[in-house]
Amino acid sequence: MMKGLKCEVSLNNIEYNLEKIKELNIGKKSIAVVKANAYGLGLEGIAEFLRDRVDYFAVAELDEAKRIPEEKEVLILSPLLNHTDFSEFKENIIFTIDNEDIIDKIPEEVGYKVHVYVDTGMNRMGIKPQDLDRVIEKIGAQRPEITIHGIYTHLHNTKDTKYTLKQIGIFKDACEKYIGKIPLIHALNSAGTLNEEVRKACDFTNAFRTGNLLYGYDGLTDGFKKTYSYFADIINTYTVHAGEHIGYGLSYKAKKDIKVGVLGIGNIEHLGFNRDVRHNIFYDILKVIYNHIKKRPVIFEETTGVGIIGRPNMNITLVDVSDIDVNNKLRIEVSAILADSSIPKIYKYE
Ligand SMILES: *Cc1c(COP(=O)(O)O)cnc(C)c1O
Repeated sequence: MMKGLKCEVSLNNIEYNLEKIKELNIGKKSIAVVKANAYGLGLEGIAEFLRDRVDYFAVAELDEAKRIPEEKEVLILSPLLNHTDFSEFKENIIFTIDNEDIIDKIPEEVGYKVHVYVDTGMNRMGIKPQDLDRVIEKIGAQRPEITIHGIYTHLHNTKDTKYTLKQIGIFKDACEKYIGKIPLIHALNSAGTLNEEVRKACDFTNAFRTGNLLYGYDGLTDGFKKTYSYFADIINTYTVHAGEHIGYGLSYKAKKDIKVGVLGIGNIEHLGFNRDVRHNIFYDILKVIYNHIKKRPVIFEETTGVGIIGRPNMNITLVDVSDIDVNNKLRIEVSAILADSSIPKIYKYE
């Protein structure tokens, strides 16, 4: 399976996006969010490239944190809940304190760094703004070996600027007194970085935490660049004559002579043609219907759409290559977030 499919990642474009983010956030420390396998682009490859270009990394889980180069500090954005997790520490890991119980679980051997997560509206987890002082005092009094290295909140509803500004106000009131005493105060994510009002309101913060913008999932209309493309080789071709059927279920009958190209990819690569059914059947059906109505191609030679013949099966997709140069690789329009993470990544830096 998965013959001749690869994901090319443009490190130049990631670098470009990073520079743009930094220009929007002048003077702030950079925290590159590389959770979810660096948003599908490969955690190791991306972390290796970014390690000398950003100040910190952030991930969602301990397992991801352990994959970060050890000389680079990495903030785990979600809380750890049990002792075994904590006992697998590495010294470059920064924990998030999002409830008071965690404080007692942090092992004493190492002087850990922590960031305190303040809930300013998400109501999912976090220290309430009015409890922040008490929690900080408690850590200082009971666990003096722990370094409180940061305070942050998450802007979870950035489409609503008014709401977000209110959130930032709450955050500012809670942590203003710690500016200059606690090294990092941060709130800006990708959407916040793009919104000038929100960005201005975060002037008192001194770090940003971005993922989507860095990888070009966001900001394409604001000059940020897409950073990856999937390419498939045509692994075989044959001609089918007018009137003959092609593929499963006799679902496709050639109206004229067709040159068929075989791609060694299919549903199993999570290419979103008609897969993902197990995960999210509703989304999938919508997507197939949408692409069908729009007659929107998902496979391209350069910029020309290439038609899929019949239905892709688990690991083979047939395409109409009558009019294209079969020595060219074909570009597959798929989000790296949806695509199978085991697809080989080719990092390009020129
Ligand atoms: C994922 C995440 C981010 C990054 O968000 P982007 O929109 O990708 O920039 C920042 N903070 C927290 C807490 C996150 O979970």
